[in-house]
Amino acid sequence: MLTPPQKLAENLRNVRARIAAASRAAGRTEDSVTLLAVSKGQSTALIEAAAALGQRDFGENYLQEALPKIGALRSAELTWHFIGRVQANKTRAIAEHFAWVHTVDRPRILERLAAQRPYYAPPLQICLQVRLAPEVAKGGVEPAELAELAAAARDLPRLRLRGLMCIPPAEPTADRQRHWFERLAALAEQLRASGFTLDTLSMGMSADLEAAIAAGSTIVRVGTAIFGPRN
Ligand SMILES: *Cc1c(COP(=O)(O)O)cnc(C)c1O
Repeated sequence: MLTPPQKLAENLRNVRARIAAASRAAGRTEDSVTLLAVSKGQSTALIEAAAALGQRDFGENYLQEALPKIGALRSAELTWHFIGRVQANKTRAIAEHFAWVHTVDRPRILERLAAQRPYYAPPLQICLQVRLAPEVAKGGVEPAELAELAAAARDLPRLRLRGLMCIPPAEPTADRQRHWFERLAALAEQLRASGFTLDTLSMGMSADLEAAIAAGSTIVRVGTAIFGPRN
């Protein structure tokens, strides 16, 4: 199903207004939160329409689906974020075609991305995905192993460790959503206290971006609230 451009413009305005209101409520400036438009399952034409409305950052989960879109939209100079599960045999193409990877959760992936990031490209921006709850089956490093992984990310060439990312369990209330986001923020704070420079918390999606911004999110990853249901 196609989201008509009119609807897309309205959705984008609404999401930007939600971010602005949540930022104000948290005593933060609106520009402290980047809107990452999650375009998995959406057409190149729709991404192009969002770009024409001023959206710059786009997130994709599946390499095979992303590469043709990135190729077709090269002249638009968009910033592409990989937010799906990273398979070891896909790291070269990810390192070549994306500016950010939000979902790094093991040393082997870091090592491959560092070795495969092209010399002519700026450093690959890295977020470490943390598994906050055992019921989330979507990957992520255990909090107990986070510091070691962060040290590896910091010490490898061609990578720039920016921060942490999470996909928390679905929760029915904003308070319970915020609880998970605050745990991720606390883990980032612990790393800062032990000398890491981190400026990014990638957390919050269509249903819980307000709770994430209240807890300090700097990148919200929003799909359906912008583009409508996925194909
Ligand atoms: C699909 C996806 C999103 C966007 O989810 P919506 O609920 O459509 O906003 C955000 N982050 C990740 C990692 C995703 O896979």
